[in-house]
Amino acid sequence: MAALVFVETLIQSSVLALLLSSWHLCTFHIGLYWMISSQQRYRNGVCYLVAVNILLLSVAFLYIHLSSFRKSHGVARYPLPDKYQLTEPYLCINIHGDFATCERGSCAGQWKPPRTHHCSVCGACRSDFDHHCPWVGNCVTLPRLKAFVLMLSLVFLGFIVGVMPIASKLLDQISLALLVSRTDEWAKETWWNWTPAWIFFGGPFGRYFIGTAIGYRILKEARDNLDSTNNQIINQPHFRVVVIVGLTSIFAIFALVLAAFTLRRILRGETTLSTLPPTSSRSTSIIEVHPLKPGERPLDLGIVKNWNTFLSYPLFNPRRTSLYIWPRLNPTVLRRIRSSKRLNTSPSINTQE
Ligand SMILES: [Zn+2]
Ligand SMILES: [Zn+2]
Repeated sequence: MAALVFVETLIQSSVLALLLSSWHLCTFHIGLYWMISSQQRYRNGVCYLVAVNILLLSVAFLYIHLSSFRKSHGVARYPLPDKYQLTEPYLCINIHGDFATCERGSCAGQWKPPRTHHCSVCGACRSDFDHHCPWVGNCVTLPRLKAFVLMLSLVFLGFIVGVMPIASKLLDQISLALLVSRTDEWAKETWWNWTPAWIFFGGPFGRYFIGTAIGYRILKEARDNLDSTNNQIINQPHFRVVVIVGLTSIFAIFALVLAAFTLRRILRGETTLSTLPPTSSRSTSIIEVHPLKPGERPLDLGIVKNWNTFLSYPLFNPRRTSLYIWPRLNPTVLRRIRSSKRLNTSPSINTQE
């Protein structure tokens, strides 16, 4: 696990470095040097600077929040309840109505309430677990989903706003670099007519990517003779700009897709964990005394209530209670359990109202 934590620390450092590079590119090169200083579009430049800084700083803030308190946030430490004292149907793991416990690491037989999962990377049982996110190097839990979805949406929005002023210029520069590369004798000989270029470095796509990079290299040599100003990297084709925009575009699309999937699960009353195939240790996946029907979601309260529950969590510092609060069950599932004949034969669940 130490190796995994090390890899995650590397990922986190890279994400923060990319965020910092994007902020630097947007604030100084696009906003200040290009829009305001070179093009003298003062009002647009100031609006752009304000918008892009609010968006990127919010992303950074949410990212740091989601990465923090890895050892302590949402760690489930509740005493094992007495099943004979419970008066409402509850989620359990077997026909006797027993509760799941965790025997791993320092958990040492402690209770795993519904929706709790032992994260092997963090080494702790986490309440309201959704998934462990290697990008933030931490578990994402239900109380933190709001910050998570907001961060993903702002990543996409930040990318669109950040790139908007230079999008068409950048596309022109890329086509120019490609054209220069395809017509240059040296580039043709060493890259375009070299057969392995079709196979290595990512196939035909990689062939065009490296071909374009060669074009940028040729343009750089020409540029260095003409343009000596350091800060004007938007006016002339600079490969650094393409790399930062390219990498952030991958993140932005990934974030948008992930946000959409997460929102879908929230509205269905599911977590990433509950959509995985059941195992005997997941108390959230089955009510064994009254087995669930295929596809039945016991914690789905309907789209409106699921959405309201999602919104009810504070964005930061979700409340922790010392007593465990049982999750509400889906009314249809509850009705079916209450009217079930097996109710009377099961000593472990008493459903008196
Ligand atoms: Zn555990
Ligand atoms: Zn974790």
